[in-house]
Amino acid sequence: MSGKLFLVGTPIGNLGDLSPRGEQALRDADFIAAEDTRVTMKLLNHFDIRKPLVSYFEHNKYASGAKILERIIAGENCALVTDAGMPAISDPGEDIVRQCAEQGIDVQVIPGPCAAIAALAVSGLPTQQFCFEGFLAVSGKTRREHLERLRGETRTMIFYEAPHKLLRTLCDLRDTFGGAREITLARELTKLHEEIWKTTLGEAVAHYAANEPRGEYVLV
Ligand code: SAM
Repeated sequence: MSGKLFLVGTPIGNLGDLSPRGEQALRDADFIAAEDTRVTMKLLNHFDIRKPLVSYFEHNKYASGAKILERIIAGENCALVTDAGMPAISDPGEDIVRQCAEQGIDVQVIPGPCAAIAALAVSGLPTQQFCFEGFLAVSGKTRREHLERLRGETRTMIFYEAPHKLLRTLCDLRDTFGGAREITLARELTKLHEEIWKTTLGEAVAHYAANEPRGEYVLV
């Protein structure tokens, strides 16, 4: 009988946020597929979990995904984790979940922290209707088209961004939505230097033009 794929949400910074059910799923799995095995080793060491690890990330997802599916079909249970948060949310996982559905393999989710939802909840902005936009494309045309599509968006928008691209993204958001538009920058959530800054796009641009961004950010 075929095994299962377990999508295990892991902490976005604070290791105390791994749920007891998530921990158990890691203990029970026959093997763990991880985005960066070194990052996951730290989590496993912290919880004293010893399990075979295989790597599954953006640039090996076809070859590695096929091997993972083979093992699941042969009867093994796989826990899929990423470096932080929920697998398949701006992270590897989407493809293997689709492949499992196509092959009739059972997928179970063990929910955990998600940076987008944590940032939205703490943002102080309307939460009843929101849209998750993930990372803006780096390339000019796709990026411009994405921003153009959002021009009339009335729901609260959520973006992920890497620190070295933050200023450019803030500038593009300001040019699209105007400098007076409210923004909450949620930085280093659940970590030592967590910071929630409610401001405007104009002020955020001015601040980060003068101060180098550090850490991980969600823009709400
Ligand atoms: N799957 C993850 C989740 O469920 O949140 C998201 C992975 S995505 C590759 C990484 C992005 O998530 C970062 O660039 C940043 O925008 C956001 N992120 C992850 N951890 C964060 C944290 N502790 N504080 C703020 N943003 C974070």
